[in-house]
Amino acid sequence: MDLGIKGKRGLVCAASKGLGRGCAEALAAAGVDLVINARSEDVLTRTAEDIASRFGVKVTPVAADITTDEGRAKVLAALVGQADILVTNAGGPPPGQWTDWSRDDFIKALDANMLSAVALMQALVPGMMERGWGRVVNITSQSVRTPIGVLGLSNAARSGLTGFVAGMSRAVAPSGVVVNNLLPGIHATDRAESLDGGVSKAEGISIEEARKRREATIPTRSYGTAEDFGATCAFMCSQHARFMVGQNILLDGGASNISI
Ligand code: NAP
Repeated sequence: MDLGIKGKRGLVCAASKGLGRGCAEALAAAGVDLVINARSEDVLTRTAEDIASRFGVKVTPVAADITTDEGRAKVLAALVGQADILVTNAGGPPPGQWTDWSRDDFIKALDANMLSAVALMQALVPGMMERGWGRVVNITSQSVRTPIGVLGLSNAARSGLTGFVAGMSRAVAPSGVVVNNLLPGIHATDRAESLDGGVSKAEGISIEEARKRREATIPTRSYGTAEDFGATCAFMCSQHARFMVGQNILLDGGASNISI
């Protein structure tokens, strides 16, 4: 399917690995020139070179912490303040028990998983509105639909972003800007490895066993891949997504036992 976005300019945050990288690759395959971001410069540079050479698009790496004002300013400078497509993403907060977290822990999670996405939308969406076209995909989590006990920081911060997007997406849609959230269930990335590592430690089983047990709870009996995720993200950034506004698209292999 031609996504109709060849030649557009996109920013994909937290994209040297994992789901962000999956989104960057799928957008590059559709002909989108990219700015990609992550903190570790070496991995990010290698990812940018690899994507540019495989898909023949321009990929500019910007090493920065997207959860800080300075980091976002660096990324926005590389875009000269403009993008047609924005994919927001950052690392997820650590697991724990609900009694564990201090105010500072919550502020950190809000900065990473709510406020940095809000700030990037505030910086880039007005330009999209002026030009009459734009797409935003916020990577959130399955935990917004089916909260996960040990991921209370994630549940809380991402729910805040979800509420913000519900109102804002409808306000910008008349100007041709489509904003949605993409909710990953478990996907085979470093983040999943680290969550499986936590289970393995807590239950005294191997990481392989922890993964096998989790896979058995998913109707597809497998983890998602960064490619699965990227393909859905690219569709949500395409011309075809014009009528999809303010949605929370759950990509979890059927793991959440919910009907809507
Ligand atoms: P991942 O494989 O660990 O990759 C994370 C990427 O984000 C890396 O490129 C990392 O590079 C970058 N990053 C992390 N913190 C950053 C920051 N502050 N500023 C800029 N870049 C940053 O993680 P993932 O699985 O792709 O997960 C992406 C998001 O989806 C996370 O928020 C995660 O919690 C959420 N999620 C994932 C799953 C899953 O199963 N994978 C499920 C639900 C939700 P650097 O470390 O070099 O910065």
